[in-house]
Amino acid sequence: MDNCLFCKISRGEIPARKVFEDEQVVVIEDIAPVAPHHLLIIPHKHVVNALDLDTGDNALIGHVFQVAARIARERGIAEQGFRIVNNNNAGAGQSVFHIHFHLLAGRNLGWPPG
Ligand code: 5GP
Repeated sequence: MDNCLFCKISRGEIPARKVFEDEQVVVIEDIAPVAPHHLLIIPHKHVVNALDLDTGDNALIGHVFQVAARIARERGIAEQGFRIVNNNNAGAGQSVFHIHFHLLAGRNLGWPPG
C-alpha cells in the first residue's frame, strides 16, 4: 500500500526503532509511548484491522501472540504482567489503518482501559 505509514515502516522506507523482525512481522518502539514498555507488533501484510482478516490470516495472528510472549519473556515483563491491545476503527482509538498490536508493560495497567 503506497500511502500506508506502517507499510512504509515495514519496508524500511521510514525509520523506526526496530526491536525484532522476521518474515511475518516487524516490532518497533512506539513513537509516543504510554508505558515504559510500548512496542508495536506490525504484520508486514497490509490488513486494515480485525474486520479485514480472513481465515488465511489465522496463523499470522497466532504468530503475533507468540512473538509478543517471547519479547515479554526476553524483557523480563512476563511475570509482572503485560497487555496486548488491538484497536479497531477510530471509535476505539485506531489511528493507523494497518493492523498492529500494542505490547504494553512496566506500569500499573488499569482496568477497564480508557
Ligand atoms: P493506534 O492508535 O492506531 O492503535 O496506534 C497507532 C500507534 O502508532 C500510536 O500509539 C502512535 O503513537 C504510533 N505511531 C504513529 N506514527 C508512528 C511513527 O511514525 N512511528 C512509530 N514508531 N510509531 C508511530
